[in-house]
Amino acid sequence: MNEETCIFCKIVKGEIPCYKIYEDDKFLAFLDIHPVNIGHSLVIPKDHYINIYDTTSELMSGAIKIAKELATGLRDKLGAEGVNIHMNNEKPAGQLVPHTHIHVIPRYNNDGFTHWHGARGYNPGEAEEVVEKIHL
Ligand code: AMP
Ligand code: ZN
Repeated sequence: MNEETCIFCKIVKGEIPCYKIYEDDKFLAFLDIHPVNIGHSLVIPKDHYINIYDTTSELMSGAIKIAKELATGLRDKLGAEGVNIHMNNEKPAGQLVPHTHIHVIPRYNNDGFTHWHGARGYNPGEAEEVVEKIHL
């Protein structure tokens, strides 16, 4: 999928409608068409980046700033009791639309949605080993 065929690029260009929540010259936020809960929104850079790997840090920061403002709005205006800020990157992580987007999902007590709880622990030495590999 490229900029011509990308569904979110088409939304940016106005070729596909959306319920717009925020727009500036670099970003757009709109309702997710299949919401986890009412108000579930997506924040995207207008330019076509695939996901976190190719998106500039500056754009990621800008998108998170908007996600924070949206989260506060979902709490204060919809009465959300919690919020998930979520990003899927690449297919194994559940990314379906290959245009960078951050999910902002209002959550409520007992809304029926669950997410992962780490089922495993670390074997002796394993944590030290992985930290050695990934520390910045
Ligand atoms: P994912 O790539 O798995 O992080 O999720 C893509 C999200 O985009 C899904 O939650 C879809 O419901 C949402 N989505 C797909 N097409 C549209 C659209 N035309 N308007 C709004 N949201 C959409
Ligand atoms: Zn795109």
